[in-house]
Amino acid sequence: MRTLRTVGELRAALEPARRAGRTIGLVPTMGALHEGHLSLIVRARSQCDLVVVSLFVNPAQFNEHADLDRYPRQEDRDRGLAAQAGADLLFAPTREEVYPAGFSTSVEVLGLTDRLEGAVRGSAHFRGVTTVVTKLLNMVAPDIAYFGQKDAQQVIVIRRLVEDLNVAVRIEECPTVRESDGLAMSSRNAHLSPDERTRALALHRALAAAGAAVSDGELSADALIRAARDAMTPFDVEPEYLALVSPDTLETVSRLDEPALLAIAARVGATRLIDNVTLYPDVRSNPQQPNPREAQAICSA
Ligand code: AMP
Repeated sequence: MRTLRTVGELRAALEPARRAGRTIGLVPTMGALHEGHLSLIVRARSQCDLVVVSLFVNPAQFNEHADLDRYPRQEDRDRGLAAQAGADLLFAPTREEVYPAGFSTSVEVLGLTDRLEGAVRGSAHFRGVTTVVTKLLNMVAPDIAYFGQKDAQQVIVIRRLVEDLNVAVRIEECPTVRESDGLAMSSRNAHLSPDERTRALALHRALAAAGAAVSDGELSADALIRAARDAMTPFDVEPEYLALVSPDTLETVSRLDEPALLAIAARVGATRLIDNVTLYPDVRSNPQQPNPREAQAICSA
């Protein structure tokens, strides 16, 4: 697997494949790869002829300097894991390559970015995400780009962006990969102390409690959110937001008449975590998503 630092090198490396009509898949990441990222690469490998993984800790999407400064950086380890999962090219540009002197353009998706993460982190966060994703899509020009449901709002915003700007790419959403006790995998989990790691279970337990309430026939959003909140009490974790929203508009819904997204964010110590689950009114549609096994095998090797 080759590592490329510049857009020029990247385009030159992709040119022969593109000319030969081979399909190109892109997995954008900020590194510190875990099984969640690897599941995206494994999926891309199974669907595309050539798989590009990008690794760029995008300063524009961090609203807290401390979060950016302590974001884990481990490129050598990431390179090994990405290669094992089936990536062909690692695109790891410098900050100057992505944002050269004089850079002054941004891409903004309005409305959807005001809610949930946007409401807490401010408009600069999603502006940073949508600008860098637009740049990566233009740099790689993939046929398919892969994103995780772990960041469900991000996928919804990117689908809107791609549709609004007529970007010729298919967006694939991959299920959230979890630790065996349910905690959603995240690069930020590395910051949790042993005590915080236990308390971090509050997020998954909240989502699971709401799912169990739906299975018992509960469809009122207030009741589902109450069940979720109650499940968090023993962990001494307060949600920053806990909302049942439409997966199309991200507006809150008062009843689970259609499938809806239950989204949560919470701070556990200094670490901010997010998670979500799609709830279906017809309980038979609520799938138990097993972890993709191939990604697990790579990380535990
Ligand atoms: P990040 O490096 O955090 O920007 O994440 C890169 C991509 O991996 C995003 O599309 C995330 O949604 C996805 N991702 C992160 N964690 C998980 C997870 N636990 N399961 C599935 N996808 C994930």
